Amino acid sequence: MDEELHHPFERTIIPMTSITSGTGYEVLPDLYALSLQIVNICFIGHEHASEFVLIDTGMPRSADAILDTVRERFGSRARPKAILLTHGHFDHVGAIRDLLEVWDVPVYAHELEIPYVTGKEKYPDPDPTVEGGLLAKISPLYPTEPVRLGSRVQPLPENGTVPFLDNWRWIHTPGHSRGHVSFFRDADRALIAGDAFITVKQDEFWKVLTQKQEVSGPPRYLTTDWQAANDSVRKLAALDPATAVCGHGIPMAGADLHHGLQELAGNFNKVAVPDYGKYVDPEQDRSH
Ligand SMILES: [Zn+2]
Ligand SMILES: [Zn+2]
Repeated sequence: MDEELHHPFERTIIPMTSITSGTGYEVLPDLYALSLQIVNICFIGHEHASEFVLIDTGMPRSADAILDTVRERFGSRARPKAILLTHGHFDHVGAIRDLLEVWDVPVYAHELEIPYVTGKEKYPDPDPTVEGGLLAKISPLYPTEPVRLGSRVQPLPENGTVPFLDNWRWIHTPGHSRGHVSFFRDADRALIAGDAFITVKQDEFWKVLTQKQEVSGPPRYLTTDWQAANDSVRKLAALDPATAVCGHGIPMAGADLHHGLQELAGNFNKVAVPDYGKYVDPEQDRSH
């Protein structure tokens, strides 16, 4: 049977380009994804709603684009109830300090991620030697200095609920980083997956440029625990999300997402785990 029939809204993800910001995607009526250079952030809340939540903050120097989008979508005086972080890599917390200067709002991250966003711990260095092309080779240029949010960030509630988002829950999806989380809404199986998996093959530069949709494992040069990453992908595949916004790549939905994610979960060691790289062999020294 044609599975497309069961996902009639698959084609409803509408790309929208705004002059001031990057490309936006109306993924669901209350889920808007904004693509900033190579990374996606999410706004949860209907257009013009008085309450919304921001998930992740994109690359450094993205604050203006984010503020413009908030003004366009929610109104000139709008601000989120909270900022939720999938994890603390530089491309997901890039604008957060600038935003917190404008907005006095709480930030939430997984308890295990908090040391990395308060300067207490530094992420392991990206691995330029990992199998996987140009983006890995230039990865030493990426900032690894942790963002320092101090007391502005607090742990997500232990019971899995998400502050200000009644129908969502957070799911611990470590591997790419220790305290990585995804956000899921059971009612319509909407998933925000951060970098637990992505929908572009980031290791192939032309696919990054063209943003060809393809369910792929987490970005290789920053993923340090491949077994945990594998378990996390299986966990998310078992939820059978109907729509997914990932940290990288164009949002996906319906049969393409279903098949892509099943395939990734079923063949993770073969297709996602690099053949070589310093974080691949657990016997190797991880101290630098
Ligand atoms: Zn990441
Ligand atoms: Zn990322």
